[in-house]
Amino acid sequence: MRRKLVAGNWKMNGSLAANAALLEGIKSALGEPLCSTAVCVPAPYLAQCQSLLAGTPVALGAQDVSMHASGAYTGEVAASMLRDFDCVYVIVGHSERRAYHGETDEAVAKKALAALDAGLTPIVCVGETLAQREAGQTSAVVERQIDAVLRMLDTDNACKIVVAYEPVWAIGTGKTATPAMAQEVHAFIRAKLAEKNADAAAMVPILYGGSMKPENAADLLAMPDIDGGLIGGAALKAADFVAIIRAA
Ligand code: PEP
Repeated sequence: MRRKLVAGNWKMNGSLAANAALLEGIKSALGEPLCSTAVCVPAPYLAQCQSLLAGTPVALGAQDVSMHASGAYTGEVAASMLRDFDCVYVIVGHSERRAYHGETDEAVAKKALAALDAGLTPIVCVGETLAQREAGQTSAVVERQIDAVLRMLDTDNACKIVVAYEPVWAIGTGKTATPAMAQEVHAFIRAKLAEKNADAAAMVPILYGGSMKPENAADLLAMPDIDGGLIGGAALKAADFVAIIRAA
């Protein structure tokens, strides 16, 4: 049985003071959650958040990782460095990185592999743009993105990833895929995992991301193939983030 996961993606938001207040708010309202929880924070705040989250049920995550293990890659952060701060998760292939930093499917796959090699769980983001959805290309785009990653992983590693379906048109826009629309794509991703390995299909959590908030979380999370959420804007408000965790 897959345990649900709700992970926050803080993106490029926060400060020492704001992070402390947000995590205090989450910790005091959370209690013992029934699902797994995580926050993926900006790299400069990993040490602060590691210390504030120690002993809590909230795991630490990062938002990106280098595909390289070490060396002359100015500005990049290696997976082993994230492990030094007790990171459990790292987001790879977020649509903002694909769009603004030219990350290719192959680069995303290499980052997922680098994360796994260091003992991290990559949260592999996939999803179509509005133009692609309107052109009827959703399955083809998601298939291309997920296949690139699965091709690079052995069957054991394929069981150790998390996938996040994030329709680009729903991210930060207030537009959410309906539960039925999201379920259709999640079932498709599950089938792609099954082609790789039956265990991967059974074990890999598939999260939904894109304007998930307390008002729509329960309906999305009730769908059979939606195993949690990757939460952007609503993860910056303790009450909203905790309400989504409760809905899971
Ligand atoms: C995201 O950036 O991963 C995301 C889902 O953002 P939002 O919840 O703000 O749409």
